[in-house]
Amino acid sequence: MKKWPVIVLDITYRPFTLFSHTKAFILTYTGRAECLEYYKHFSIKTINRKYSAPMVIRVAILKKEWSRSLPTRKTIFLRDNFRCAYCGKYLKDNDVTVDHIIPKSRGGKWEWENLVTACKECNQKKGNKLLEEMGMKLLFKPKVPSTFEVELRKWKKSEEFMNVLKIYSISSFKALCQNL
Ligand SMILES: [Zn+2]
Repeated sequence: MKKWPVIVLDITYRPFTLFSHTKAFILTYTGRAECLEYYKHFSIKTINRKYSAPMVIRVAILKKEWSRSLPTRKTIFLRDNFRCAYCGKYLKDNDVTVDHIIPKSRGGKWEWENLVTACKECNQKKGNKLLEEMGMKLLFKPKVPSTFEVELRKWKKSEEFMNVLKIYSISSFKALCQNL
């Protein structure tokens, strides 16, 4: 069965992750989450009846969204949208590598700001050199992403979902906070 993304907000209305519609439905149905928005063009059918499918739910916990977690190969690729940080090429699974900006052999660590997605050619070309030594440049500055940003990239998103996402986006949350 196809799964649909559901935005999960914490108690302060901060989006912190995404669940599948089935997981979100179970949480709301059993009273462990409050549903704030439903999909208009999509519902959940059981033998006996039809239920509206949740699109935004709120759970009664407080999440420290920006707490750091160690990056994995997969989350580096997701953060960078499978795009080589040097030549800008969009990559397929078999051509994608992780590059240490400051090479491991020179003390570069496995951390978000020192890791980027790179194609095999750019990675080999750079080797154990520093960017300055190779005259290479990064197309974007690698940052620590939020769990929400990483999760968001995993899903195919409909237009309906994108419109609602804008309302509940991180920037709107920040604006909300400033007004408190
Ligand atoms: Zn490249």
